[in-house]
Amino acid sequence: MVDFKINILLIKIMKEAKFYKKLNDNNVQCELCNHFCTIKDNQTGFCRVRKNKKGKLISLVYGYPVALNADPIEKKPLFHFMPASYTYSLGTLGCNFRCANCQNWDISQAKNIENKIDNLSFYDPESIVEDAIYNECASISYTYTEPTIFTEYALDIMKLAHSRGLKNVWVSNGFMSKKCLEEILHYLDAINIDLKSMDDDFYQKNCAARLKPVLENLIRIKKEQIHLEITTLIIPTLSDSIDMLSKIADFIVNELGTDIPWHISKFSPEISWKLKDLPATGDDIIYEAYEIGKEAGLKYIYVGNLPGDQRENTYCPKCGELCIRRFGYHIERLDNNGFCPKCDADLDIID
Ligand code: SF4
Repeated sequence: MVDFKINILLIKIMKEAKFYKKLNDNNVQCELCNHFCTIKDNQTGFCRVRKNKKGKLISLVYGYPVALNADPIEKKPLFHFMPASYTYSLGTLGCNFRCANCQNWDISQAKNIENKIDNLSFYDPESIVEDAIYNECASISYTYTEPTIFTEYALDIMKLAHSRGLKNVWVSNGFMSKKCLEEILHYLDAINIDLKSMDDDFYQKNCAARLKPVLENLIRIKKEQIHLEITTLIIPTLSDSIDMLSKIADFIVNELGTDIPWHISKFSPEISWKLKDLPATGDDIIYEAYEIGKEAGLKYIYVGNLPGDQRENTYCPKCGELCIRRFGYHIERLDNNGFCPKCDADLDIID
């Protein structure tokens, strides 16, 4: 038992980060995301989970998930990737964004990470994969907070997951560095990326980030033919302009393809980190965004947080037949193994 505790302690202290370079005077530069933080000795980067210890960059969260659940894949949301399957989902503390609208802010914006981790249990990658299999999940999702910031842990799990026949899913803000993206692409099967706005000012003010790297990464992911879906949260006054929503729809159509599913979801002030004074997103703008996507030429547009709305369903893009009926996370598959049961059109589904 004593030995076991010592081992845990060593793993905590010794897990060196992957993507960084050493600078003068024991400083380091993290190369994991597009912040490229320069970090002084004994300091953490912007995400609060990567710490410079005497010129060595350490991942503080390797092996310490703060949330573990078997979720419906639709919750990510992914509607065209193994529909109606379960995905073993995990996330750690920390984030490289500061989204004022964050719904998981209690874990994403946590401070004093080292103290908090002292109260978490260690899960090695093998135990995560075993638990996913035990829970009859078809995939593992790296989610809840931004997986980029726990890439080392995710990568080790992803490699094992593939060797055991499980798929890997990321739910991401898309702000990882090129270096990070190239490495995860080897093991990634599907990803949902938030395209929060087409306005760089929004990214800077609301998220403390930038738009351009997200767009570039989306194009790279599409080129690699990784299954991709996109989510946009419509926030009243901040990301609800018709012009901006049209730009998102046009970007998806022109740069990524009409087959990319676009999820439009509602903002709720009660559960957001900040922005408590804003109203909840009205249904009208959600329906308007849906029409904007249709007019732009997207084949699959879905409304979120509106259980029972027919716009949650998948219809055949060719003949209009109902192919997957959804009510929240109750999924009824009427398709024929990813093809329309009426006209046999391809529904761009991966099973
Ligand atoms: S992951 Fe991003 S935010 Fe975190 S330390 Fe590295 S560059 Fe900074």
